[in-house]
Amino acid sequence: MAGVTEAMVAQLGKDLGQAKLIDTHAHINVEHFAEDRDAVVERAAQAGLSHIVNMGDSMESSQSSVALTKIYPMVYTGVGIHPEEAHPMTQADEDQLASWGVLPKVVAIGEIGLDYYWEKDGDKRQLQRELFIRQLDLARQLHLPVCVHNREAHGDTMEILRKEGKGIVGVMHCFSGSLEIAQELVKMGWFIGVDGPLTFKNAAKLPEIVQKLPLERIVVETDCPYMAPVPMRGKRNEPAFVYHVAAKLAQLRGESLEKVARQTTANALELYPKLEL
Ligand SMILES: [Zn+2]
Repeated sequence: MAGVTEAMVAQLGKDLGQAKLIDTHAHINVEHFAEDRDAVVERAAQAGLSHIVNMGDSMESSQSSVALTKIYPMVYTGVGIHPEEAHPMTQADEDQLASWGVLPKVVAIGEIGLDYYWEKDGDKRQLQRELFIRQLDLARQLHLPVCVHNREAHGDTMEILRKEGKGIVGVMHCFSGSLEIAQELVKMGWFIGVDGPLTFKNAAKLPEIVQKLPLERIVVETDCPYMAPVPMRGKRNEPAFVYHVAAKLAQLRGESLEKVARQTTANALELYPKLEL
């Protein structure tokens, strides 16, 4: 893409030394990458990434995401229905998700969860909750972790995880909650996903929260194509830019980038055990 050269990206890879990074949450199956997807994956490898975990957000996008895992060795996927795509899940949908879930490169049910920012209608929010619970049950049956999207629905998301999430671990992706919620998730054995907003000037509480959490519980992600981290803010985001999230995390915690890369990569491998080295 304009402004991002392979030389710049290769420099990011050199800064990491021997350490690797994993983008634990991407959407490179979307149309924004239709023209140059091969180059985007190549740049991710040059920037020091070992894996990209792409996320489906509907039946259709889960299918296209599974297809990418067959093209690119470093790409793995979650499959699931995002709350903004909520619809009553049919038995056929559930059977399809389950049959993808046993594939070796399908590492999670995700992304799933609640979005009360975009959805104001009470009945549709109820539908989101039912869909979320049903997909948590599916994850439990398949012994897969989950990737949870939660926007302005902290209370209901946590209540559902406490009641319906027994035996399931996962990541609260693009974390936007309080320190108390982060600490409760850590106690539950969950991971906290941080991405571009950590680097924004208006990052609110997040910089303080990531300083107080154990590094062993944090994973880094891009959620590309949106929310590019500083210094790429406003551009199309891509997995290589997870470097900038890790660098900000290292700076905030006063630790080396290499240490942060090593630990967050170990965390991603623990979160998603089906990732292969
Ligand atoms: Zn996402």
